[in-house]
Amino acid sequence: MANKPKKVNRSWVKVYEAFGREDKDDNFYNSRRWRNFRKSYLERNPLCVHCESEGCVTAATVADHKIRMKAGGEAFAESNIQALCEKCHNRKSASESRGMG
Ligand SMILES: [Zn+2]
Repeated sequence: MANKPKKVNRSWVKVYEAFGREDKDDNFYNSRRWRNFRKSYLERNPLCVHCESEGCVTAATVADHKIRMKAGGEAFAESNIQALCEKCHNRKSASESRGMG
């Protein structure tokens, strides 16, 4: 057969690898639906609930899933969302990655 491609384009390999576990999450958090949901939630809940419970007032920048989606938590249920500042969110994520989530 004469119509053999001169060069094999293997760029699909990278595309395939990009759909790893973490990137799947990124797709969700970058989705328009989530960004709108998060924005409207933080407009109505502008303070970090963790800091507030400790008597501090900190602006929330993260709409955090109380129960992670991977653990069966609902993505767009406000009852499963809490407003956190970056610091509290990082602390929570760190403890989750130690196997507590
Ligand atoms: Zn906080």
